[in-house]
Amino acid sequence: MNPLLEELAGGRLKEFTIIFSGLSEGIHDFTFTLEDDFFKEFPNSPIEKGKVDVELAFEKKRRMLVLNLELAGQVNIECDRCLQPLNLPVATQYKLMIKLSASQPSPQDVKEDIIYIAPESSHLNVAHPIYETLILGLPLSKTCEMDIGGEQACDPKIMAIIEGEVQEEETNKTEEETPIDPRWAALKKLKDK
Ligand SMILES: [Zn+2]
Repeated sequence: MNPLLEELAGGRLKEFTIIFSGLSEGIHDFTFTLEDDFFKEFPNSPIEKGKVDVELAFEKKRRMLVLNLELAGQVNIECDRCLQPLNLPVATQYKLMIKLSASQPSPQDVKEDIIYIAPESSHLNVAHPIYETLILGLPLSKTCEMDIGGEQACDPKIMAIIEGEVQEEETNKTEEETPIDPRWAALKKLKDK
């Protein structure tokens, strides 16, 4: 059993649990909305705020579950360059297959998009696959120009600092010769105590 699927089932992401044992074979549609509370459940999430609509076509077969996920909305995320928050549009999809099987596949049969769960499983929590789909769907480079409003530019103050740092590195060689500012010297004394 995939531990992620099980761990989340009893937690605060309970609304993402699908009890499929009672479902008939065929496709069942589910919808979810991801908001700030959702992202809080993932401590390493680069997204803290957002609103994303999720459509899940959940297909139940005899020994297989097929999840077709479609996500659309917007997330608030830091600009890679100036760290300013920006609202990024997201639209992504993913297909995940879950096999109900007593045995794990042999290493040569392992396929990326197939998860194996015990045949007697009755429920599945889809919060983690949804989160993964969203994160994988984010563009590699996220910058202010991509903001939904279309008018955001990188913070000029931050950009000046970044550019200043580059110049400072270039002139680093002469730094040792320059006398230490007396205020820094006083601070350094405090620190050394
Ligand atoms: Zn920026």
